[in-house]
Amino acid sequence: MKKIVVTGAAGFLGSHLCDKLLSNNNNIIGIDNFYTGRKENIAHLLNNKNFTFINHDLIDFIKLDADEIYNLACPASPPQYQKDPIRTLKTSIYGSLNLLEEARRLKAKIFQASTSEVYGDPDVTPQTEDYRGSVNPIGIRACYDEGKRCAETLFFDFHRTYGVNVKVVRIFNTYGPRMDPNDGRVVSNFITQALLGQPITIYGDGQQTRSFCYCDDLIEGLFLMMNSSDRFTGPVNLGNPNEFTISELSELIQDILGKKSKIIHKPLPMDDPRQRCPDVSLAKKELDWTPKISLKEGLKMTISYFDKLLSGKVN
Ligand code: NAD
Ligand code: UDP
Repeated sequence: MKKIVVTGAAGFLGSHLCDKLLSNNNNIIGIDNFYTGRKENIAHLLNNKNFTFINHDLIDFIKLDADEIYNLACPASPPQYQKDPIRTLKTSIYGSLNLLEEARRLKAKIFQASTSEVYGDPDVTPQTEDYRGSVNPIGIRACYDEGKRCAETLFFDFHRTYGVNVKVVRIFNTYGPRMDPNDGRVVSNFITQALLGQPITIYGDGQQTRSFCYCDDLIEGLFLMMNSSDRFTGPVNLGNPNEFTISELSELIQDILGKKSKIIHKPLPMDDPRQRCPDVSLAKKELDWTPKISLKEGLKMTISYFDKLLSGKVN
């Protein structure tokens, strides 16, 4: 039985990862400060004898005991990470540094949830791991993008300097049950708006693209990466390579629900990337991973969750 730390455990992806690791008979120490996480996401785990929860802000050092550390702690939604940008930077940079020091001391394997945002507003599509990105270092997204870029640098410097066993994954837009309906990301916004009969808010002309990966596919990829050969550090892209415009996403949600919503256009936020599409051939080659769940199937499962959540039938 391995001792595994999961940071960001009360978040959307962190809580699914805890479920997966517990189902494989591991001992999990979940850490979160509920900045964007929800108590409801881990309520079902609190009576599990193999799960321990620690309420802690990872900006501050914490002494750990673990064989493996997954670092997922960081707000992921633009309105959330922009609310307190200095705190976002501190979470990515000090949080990673604190955890890397502990991984070095414990000789533990450490995983970083990096992001497609390291590519910024990309000049090439699809994005491969060797593309160095186009990030505006002084824009409103930089607290997230540059924080995650700096965290990657820290991971690779700890690897080169101290031989720490690192695993870095660049996650592309992922959605599914347990997203916070109020966190402002496009999938949760559109589904909530459509279910509540409110207008759907499209920012800009809706022609910008994203590639949406269902959470179960993504979690499988995170697990395969952590358990891949020590030789393979990443970074590796994980995401669904099927690209959709934001207008197409809104159409698909309305089609699934079988009702038309009013569309209102709002200004495109500063530095909003025009397109985002992963090249996942490295993940296929090294991890034998490809996403299996189509956007339509994944949206149906997500809509069903939000429907129950909004009518008070699930937490
Ligand atoms: P989320 O906001 O639901 O989860 C993040 C969790 O981290 C929350 O529970 C939050 O409370 C916790 N947290 C934030 N700051 C903290 C701090 N200082 N100390 C302790 N806990 C802290 O987001 P998510 O979608 O689950 O994302 C998880 C990770 O994956 C993040 O690192 C994010 O950057 C990365 N990621 C996610 C996506 C995506 O599409 N979901 C895409 C790229 C990268
Ligand atoms: N978006 C939108 N309406 C919304 C929320 C987001 O049109 O209510 C757009 C946003 O401008 C971006 C895309 O949808 O182009 C994805 O936004 P999200 O916040 O989910 O994540 P991002 O990929 O930008 O980090």
